[in-house]
Amino acid sequence: MSEDCLFCKIIAGEIPSKKVYEDDFCYAFDDIEPEAPVHTLVVPKKHFADLQTGPTEEDLGRLMATVPEVAKIKGVYESGYRAVVNVGPDSAQTVQHLHVHILGGIKMGRFTFEGSARE
Ligand code: 5GP
Ligand code: ZN
Repeated sequence: MSEDCLFCKIIAGEIPSKKVYEDDFCYAFDDIEPEAPVHTLVVPKKHFADLQTGPTEEDLGRLMATVPEVAKIKGVYESGYRAVVNVGPDSAQTVQHLHVHILGGIKMGRFTFEGSARE
């Protein structure tokens, strides 16, 4: 656990969250400001600042293998969803604890970017 990490506090139950799934390695909970009808975050219980800072291949495998399981619980396994990992400043990562966003429940367009000509 990292002392000043919001998601570590959520995992520890010090900050309330709407739990979707939990096992020995992962915790999943609904995003507080959903950007789609389904917007759930899947996080490893171990603290890693981001995708490229600390996790082993096994850690990443376990995290990503959990994503479809959470998608099933949220009812988007068949309809489809987007799994997003923001990394670093240009991605607008705001919480420095590795997490996968599961976004779904709506037909999505392609990726859009600030100033992008492509909607
Ligand atoms: P990032 O921008 O780092 O990829 O995503 C962080 C996400 O965490 C955002 O979508 C934000 O809405 C969500 N978030 C921030 N604080 C909280 C919180 O206290 N509880 C929950 N459930 N989600 C949070
Ligand atoms: Zn953390």
